[in-house]
Amino acid sequence: MKTPFESLPLFPATIAGSLPKPAWLAEPEKLWAPWKLEGRALDEGKRDAVRVAVSMQEKAGIQIVSDGEQTRRHFVNGYMEKLEGIDFTNLKMVRIRNRYDANVPRVVGPVTRPKPVHSDDVKFLRAATTKAIKFTLPGPMTMVDTLYDEHYRSREKLAMAFAQILNQEARELAALGVDVIQFDEPAFNVYFDEVRDWGVAALERARQGVECKTAVHICYGYGIEANNSWKKTLGEEWRQYENTFPLLAKSSIDQVSLECANSHVPMELMALLKGKDVMVGCIDVANNRVETPEEVARVIRNALEYVPKERLFPCTNCGMVPLHRDVAAGKLAALGLGAALVRKEAVQPGTA
Ligand code: ZN
Repeated sequence: MKTPFESLPLFPATIAGSLPKPAWLAEPEKLWAPWKLEGRALDEGKRDAVRVAVSMQEKAGIQIVSDGEQTRRHFVNGYMEKLEGIDFTNLKMVRIRNRYDANVPRVVGPVTRPKPVHSDDVKFLRAATTKAIKFTLPGPMTMVDTLYDEHYRSREKLAMAFAQILNQEARELAALGVDVIQFDEPAFNVYFDEVRDWGVAALERARQGVECKTAVHICYGYGIEANNSWKKTLGEEWRQYENTFPLLAKSSIDQVSLECANSHVPMELMALLKGKDVMVGCIDVANNRVETPEEVARVIRNALEYVPKERLFPCTNCGMVPLHRDVAAGKLAALGLGAALVRKEAVQPGTA
């Protein structure tokens, strides 16, 4: 029998990760928003929110479904707060992603994972849909870059320690039926020397022996002020991917997720990912305007000049957690419909 992943149609739509949370679960349109429930009510609330997120995606025609990160407050800290060796009470102000100051947790001893973090979440998601499922984890370099390290005193050593932890987690999640495990590495767009020296190696350590597809998501960040002003300094053409794509093309990672819609990323850079599945960002997450299906289709058609059709996965540029729910629902629908338009053209050439 074919797995859900093997049964995917052409141009299977998927999302980079997060979706907005319901207003009864967490404060809307906010990153790292505190929970509004506690105890058992919180556990139930998270699961109900996952049901809603799954149903939103299925209705929109999304083929590889995620839990919308409804059970986590933040894509990096949500994982790290389950580990030992990290102090989340006395935070420290440091510059992260080389562009903004944030109060981050401190590494105070060896980092370890006392127990599996997301097994229950994956069991629940696997039971909630028959579609192919994706689960996102933070990448080792991005974890290192969201902390103050008082113990390892080496970004590389700390990254490798995280990579081992992520590897155990990813193997378990794959065994529970996840089709795609995606590591989020926005830091790959910032520290090019480190990506070359140890970043890709850490990522490969994290995916070693994982028996499902593995992906890496590299973006220019959520549509928050610090990122928007950083993007203004990047010039007419954003060529950051030019540094990392050739390294990823040689790596064991199966899929790469990148920003494309409304960005200044030259489309031809996707040609550097030869041999990889490419998740093409067709939805801008940094504004509230809902794309039309035709606009999504146009991005996919342009990408087809550089990516073979069986390797093209229409996607969002990044997570949608800071957006209004109605906006996110509209963008999801546009993504599903836009992918369907191009799928129809590929099946019946010349009828567009
Ligand atoms: Zn992102």
